[in-house]
Amino acid sequence: MKLRVVVLGAGFGGLELSAILSEALGEELDLVLIDRNDSFYFGFSKLDVMFGKKKPEAVKLAYRNIAKPGVRFVQETITAIDPEAKRVTTNGGTYEGDILVVALGADYAPGDTPGLVEGGYEFYSMAGAVRLREVLPTFTKGNAIVGVTSTPFKCPPAPSEAALLLHDYLTERGVRQNCKISLVMPFGIPIPPSPETSQALLAAFAERGIKYVADRLVRALDPARRVAILDNGDEMPYALFLGIPKHRVPEVVAESGMTVNGWVPVNPKTLETRYPGVYAIGDVTSVGTPKAGVFSEGAAKIVAAEILEDYMGGERPPAYAGQGLCYVEFGAGRVGRVDVDFLSGPKPTGSFVEPSAELVRDKEEFGSSRRRRWFGG
Ligand SMILES: Cc1cc2nc3c(=O)[nH]c(=O)nc-3n(C[C@H](O)[C@H](O)[C@H](O)COP(=O)(O)OP(=O)(O)OC[C@H]3O[C@@H](n4cnc5c(N)ncnc54)[C@H](O)[C@@H]3O)c2cc1C
Repeated sequence: MKLRVVVLGAGFGGLELSAILSEALGEELDLVLIDRNDSFYFGFSKLDVMFGKKKPEAVKLAYRNIAKPGVRFVQETITAIDPEAKRVTTNGGTYEGDILVVALGADYAPGDTPGLVEGGYEFYSMAGAVRLREVLPTFTKGNAIVGVTSTPFKCPPAPSEAALLLHDYLTERGVRQNCKISLVMPFGIPIPPSPETSQALLAAFAERGIKYVADRLVRALDPARRVAILDNGDEMPYALFLGIPKHRVPEVVAESGMTVNGWVPVNPKTLETRYPGVYAIGDVTSVGTPKAGVFSEGAAKIVAAEILEDYMGGERPPAYAGQGLCYVEFGAGRVGRVDVDFLSGPKPTGSFVEPSAELVRDKEEFGSSRRRRWFGG
């Protein structure tokens, strides 16, 4: 009997899980990988797209190229999840598995921040990044704000990266002296688990005249007056607002009854949900790690090991430790790295590797190694 696995979502977590199970089981595996999209994008490629460094087609990884024994990709939209029956309904059919893995990520709700849709932009979706490629060349003077509207949000370093890359972009266009850049963040320092990385970012902001507004969220925009309203009532005038929109689970997950306080709770050591045979990994969960691809991938490795242990026997896999490394764009063609550990100690810790050209190459290899592993035969 083949092992039947249904993987919901072909993002960082779903792709990693499918690749590991395929490698271990080959044709003994009957895995259906479902996603509504026809291709995958790395989150960081949205920064390349918005600043015009890469075209959207150039960063697209088409799912039709997945060539993995035992894995069948279907481009369908999931419309219902029954975790008790381990059954999934899509616009194309119904799928049942011995194991269900929910890896549906986080969706955005820009409409939940008053004024954001009418008066601002977001760069967290590919559509938002594509739109900004057209808008940014028209921005020549005034206040630019990069602002977080709610927590949790994906990739905590991304707003800092956007502010630094915006500085480079405006400098290259010769208009930086006519513009102010502010970054509104809900944390006292940019990356709380790593004071060292945060100090390096704060120093980079200071060098470039970027204002860091700590411990604040943007609650609303008033497009008529062109002001951003913060959660303490302060107002900041803006000519360009780049928002990090509110995140939430995809609607189908909320409707499945699997969420508690908005996200899917899991056993932090095993990633099991409260439903037998149903796991959840990545951004869709409230496991306690940041919403970032490296953590979704790390969770997928643990779930794959557990599935294989149950199927083939062998040693119990280690508990999920919530560790990951994140490359951080510092601007001026330099990339730094932060290595973080969220779950193995009493509190999250992080260490910093100084920005360098070598890390630029490492970040490229991070992307291409995953492309080979997830899509190659
Ligand atoms: C600007 C930016 C920069 C980032 N930089 C980094 C970085 O440098 N490093 C890093 O590790 N992370 C980074 N991230 C975060 C990273 O992209 C996400 O955390 C990661 O993709 C989460 O993986 P996941 O598998 O949990 O979900 P996702 O990768 O989001 O995958 C979920 C999948 O589910 C699919 N889906 C959702 N609903 C349905 C449905 N109803 N039917 C069918 N399919 C559905 C989606 O189409 C999607 O493909 C960045 C994010 C952004 C926005």
